[in-house]
Amino acid sequence: IATSRLDAFKTWLTEQGVLSSNIPVIPQQVENQGLGIVAKGRSVAQNEDVLSVPQELWMSVAVARLHPTIGPFCQNLRPWVALALLLLYEKAMPSSFWRPYIDILPDTLDSPLFWSNEELMQLEGTQLLGSISGYLQHVDSEYTTLFQEVIEPNPGIFNTSLFSRDLFLWAFGILRSRTFPPLTGDELALVPFADLVNHGMVLNMDGPSWEKKSSGFFDRREYLTLRAPISVKEGEQIVMQYGKVKSNGKLAVDYGFVECGPKTTAIRDSFTLTLEIAESDRFFDDKIDIAELNGLSAIVYFDLVYEQGLPDNMLPFLRLIALSGTDAFLLEALFRNSVWDHLQLPVSRVNEEAVCKAIVDGCHVALTSYPSTIDEDLNLLQDIELSPRLKIAAAIRLGEKRVLQELQLLFETRLQELHKLEYYAERRLRNLGLMDDKGDLTPWVFEG
Ligand code: SAM
Repeated sequence: IATSRLDAFKTWLTEQGVLSSNIPVIPQQVENQGLGIVAKGRSVAQNEDVLSVPQELWMSVAVARLHPTIGPFCQNLRPWVALALLLLYEKAMPSSFWRPYIDILPDTLDSPLFWSNEELMQLEGTQLLGSISGYLQHVDSEYTTLFQEVIEPNPGIFNTSLFSRDLFLWAFGILRSRTFPPLTGDELALVPFADLVNHGMVLNMDGPSWEKKSSGFFDRREYLTLRAPISVKEGEQIVMQYGKVKSNGKLAVDYGFVECGPKTTAIRDSFTLTLEIAESDRFFDDKIDIAELNGLSAIVYFDLVYEQGLPDNMLPFLRLIALSGTDAFLLEALFRNSVWDHLQLPVSRVNEEAVCKAIVDGCHVALTSYPSTIDEDLNLLQDIELSPRLKIAAAIRLGEKRVLQELQLLFETRLQELHKLEYYAERRLRNLGLMDDKGDLTPWVFEG
């Protein structure tokens, strides 16, 4: 961002009464992170409100819907689409009230949504690549509808070159990376100045430190305040936690950066496993019924996070999928209320083996589809000169593979230990008192 633009923005904030010598922060260029918010004049205490932006300065869905020119078109649009339209409309207006703010918004974003095909090849084999195309399709179809229903029929209001597909995607990226709770949904809003806060790498907070406050009983003016989550010395940056449980994939798509390195306090490596009861399964109907009774469905997505163990319900669901042959009696109506309890523990050696093999083989196939090895990615990430986009790609590949490898190892180990597990039949005998703890049939029951 050119200094002149930043200066114009600071002047605007000062005129609006938001920036003054009374507040302990200023917007400033930060190394490798674009603009940020820095303590000025003194240090800042933990939990101190460092800035406060009145509602009149927000670019919000409400402003879009009440807008004299574009308001009528925004009534039935999704909140984010209405706000994207407002942003592009104001961006196209030289005399916009938000001119100084719009001028400091980044033109290019590093989210993979904006990568060239060549750059996207760095994500080959990853799950993220699939979700990127999902996002792009979604934005594309929203744009197509907006174009046909709003932009094209109103050439006097919307100059198509200033409301292009590319600019719409840019607006989507801006909204994704600069809006935070509690301003979401119908309350979605861009808040100039407050949206300059960068993500902190080491904070243990759960989520963003934006807060909505109202002043007085009568004027009900709303403000957005930014609270400093930790104390900061003069000249240092105020940062906030964008989301403690967001995976690197999500950070990459939303914000165009990833968190990696030894200082990481949050766990960012993840992989979403999709498990499905096949329609060709001869017990399909019974299995669906059982899944639904337990809050699941034919397809279930399990988010696996590195070193966090298996998600609840994953093993029972795997056992249910694999249930067949002599174990199928558990699918009978008689067991409908208790089958899920039984599936919490190994059902039979055959069933448990099928579960383990399915996972081990699945991981193997997934792991061979990545072009680089874990060590190669680790080496790349050592390079401090690595471009932001290559860093994202390497961290994503590495993270997904780490999770898959951990999962594979877990089930390989289990496969070696199948003989040590206790299965349904033994448990049942033991519960009936017919077997001792060593697995021997107890003699006294026969003695009567
Ligand atoms: N730095 C932004 C700017 O110049 O306008 C203001 C913060 S904005 C809410 C979020 C964007 O800031 C992200 O999409 C990313 O580009 C950048 N950012 C925030 N935290 C970061 C971090 N820890 N590392 C790298 N980039 C970061």
